[in-house]
Amino acid sequence: MAWLRLTKTALYLMKSGDACYVDKVNLTGEKRNQVRIPTKWFTGNDAPGAMVIEDIEPPACSISGGSPSTPTTRPLTGKKVVLDPGHGEDGDKGAISGGRTEAGETLKQARLIQGILQARGASVTIVENTRNLSLDQIGALGAGADCFVSVHLNSFNQTVQGHEVLIDRNGTDADLRFATAISQELDRSLDIPNRGVKRQGLAVLRAVPLPVPAVLVESFFLDATPTNQVDEWIQKSAQAIARGIEQFLT
Ligand SMILES: [Zn+2]
Repeated sequence: MAWLRLTKTALYLMKSGDACYVDKVNLTGEKRNQVRIPTKWFTGNDAPGAMVIEDIEPPACSISGGSPSTPTTRPLTGKKVVLDPGHGEDGDKGAISGGRTEAGETLKQARLIQGILQARGASVTIVENTRNLSLDQIGALGAGADCFVSVHLNSFNQTVQGHEVLIDRNGTDADLRFATAISQELDRSLDIPNRGVKRQGLAVLRAVPLPVPAVLVESFFLDATPTNQVDEWIQKSAQAIARGIEQFLT
């Protein structure tokens, strides 16, 4: 799936699974507030399916379609991140609200995080949530990574709202530092209660092999979020989680 990147100066059509762009529209003056997306970007099989707003100009893809040219700053080069979008559309969809499923929204969120971190040089694996893996099998896929992040959305009584970051009951100091970095970034990005960092017995985190730092993020309560606000909050929380990951790894 191709994706879009909006910076202060241009809208980029980003290559599927890569951090380089294949086409762009420069933004000038009044166009900043109303960006026209070229219709040709939506023809063919690889139409953009997500957009990241981040003020980092990406490199152009090389003409051969191979590796992108080296950008100036890629602080996460060499870092491996495993993202686990909670639940799966084929089985347990998790929280459901207003026609949105936790599984669908966390997959979007994971792809946004992946796009941001890849642009910063990291290699990012998203655990496919269509394979009906057990929580133990999912956690085990964190082996060899620099960090493991399971992304979920909460649900309770359509009133309670807030973000929280969970570590395993026997979580390490590194888990705690990692969770705190993400929690602080979520607090800066979302104007909802900070429910803090908590320890809980969580099978998926327990299955991540030591010493890989592992956290589970509940960005907000899906059932207490107006439907028309979900996309914005998914975007903001994805950016916050990506910043927290970068801070922790650098
Ligand atoms: Zn969940």
